[in-house]
Amino acid sequence: MGRETKMFHRRDTRAVRVGDLTIGGSNEVIMQSMCTTKTADVKATVAEILRLEEAGCQLVRVTVNNKEAAEAIKEIKKQIHIPLVSDIHFDHRLALAAIENGIDKVRINPGNIGRREKVEAVVKACKERGIPIRIGVNAGSLENHLLEKYGYPTPEAMVESALFHINILEELDFHDIIVSLKASDVPMAIAAYSQAAKAFNYPLHLGITEAGTLFTGAVKSAAGIGTLLNMGIGNTLRISLSADPVEEIKVARELLKTFGLITNAATLVSCPTCGRLDIDLFSIANEVEDYIAKIKVPIKVSVLGCAVNGPGEAREADIGIAGARGEGMLFRYGEMIRKVPEAELLAELKKEIDIIVASYEQT
Ligand code: SF4
Repeated sequence: MGRETKMFHRRDTRAVRVGDLTIGGSNEVIMQSMCTTKTADVKATVAEILRLEEAGCQLVRVTVNNKEAAEAIKEIKKQIHIPLVSDIHFDHRLALAAIENGIDKVRINPGNIGRREKVEAVVKACKERGIPIRIGVNAGSLENHLLEKYGYPTPEAMVESALFHINILEELDFHDIIVSLKASDVPMAIAAYSQAAKAFNYPLHLGITEAGTLFTGAVKSAAGIGTLLNMGIGNTLRISLSADPVEEIKVARELLKTFGLITNAATLVSCPTCGRLDIDLFSIANEVEDYIAKIKVPIKVSVLGCAVNGPGEAREADIGIAGARGEGMLFRYGEMIRKVPEAELLAELKKEIDIIVASYEQT
């Protein structure tokens, strides 16, 4: 069986309910994403959310930037299966409308809402329905009083901004709070989240904002969020990419797997190839990656170009192949089970994967 590496994860945060999920405490790190559609376009928004759900997304955010968007929440909620978050800036009436229409969580910064009675109205509505609030600090939009104090965005200024908004909610005896401290500068985000983890115990939503395209965004997010996860910090995360949001979930899932924070997922090990290679390994590895993406048991599959490292690596995997000229060897739990012609290698590997998955499902 593949070795399981369960890493330490910070458990001393408050547990906050979001619909039927709990973020923080000893709960798993939740993967979330955000729709790219116009929220008022219910059909397109629901279609995107259903694709995200299928990819493993557990929580999804939509922008609520006008009355039509707030109104659409009612219908969207009926057609999806995961909790829905509304992203609101400044306008407390949109927050109240989103809450009225069944939203599960509101992302709004109380310090930006305006007059006290407006903040109180939002907090009261959230309290009545058990809806949490995410405070979203962003290095690019810090409050003026902090920019005056610090001169420019710093991790300290970001944490102070979070505490400024937290204090407003705490004064109103509201504690169902989740906090993000996003920056596109990775070291700044790491420092801000690290300091925040010491400053308060509300769950942290991790993200590197404006991270870039699929390639650059995945690298930057993995560097920043990965560092934090490795420190045991983070209760939910969003990978921000200029790409199909389904890609955000794929990256999030891979990142959590890397740190042993998803135990019910299959992992692929594949070699980089070299001059010893005699089979078309890249396409096999890509196909296997797609094939195992939806498997919900912790198996390790290895796809190696040749037998030089094959048997050794395969011993670490539940099932694997090592290529040879025009054929490949199938390994199960480190033992070679048979040789297969190259043309049948992929199909045979898939069959063996299915057998192992079925044996997990029977136990
Ligand atoms: Fe090269 Fe074989 Fe190692 Fe792959 S497993 S990198 S083909 S030596």
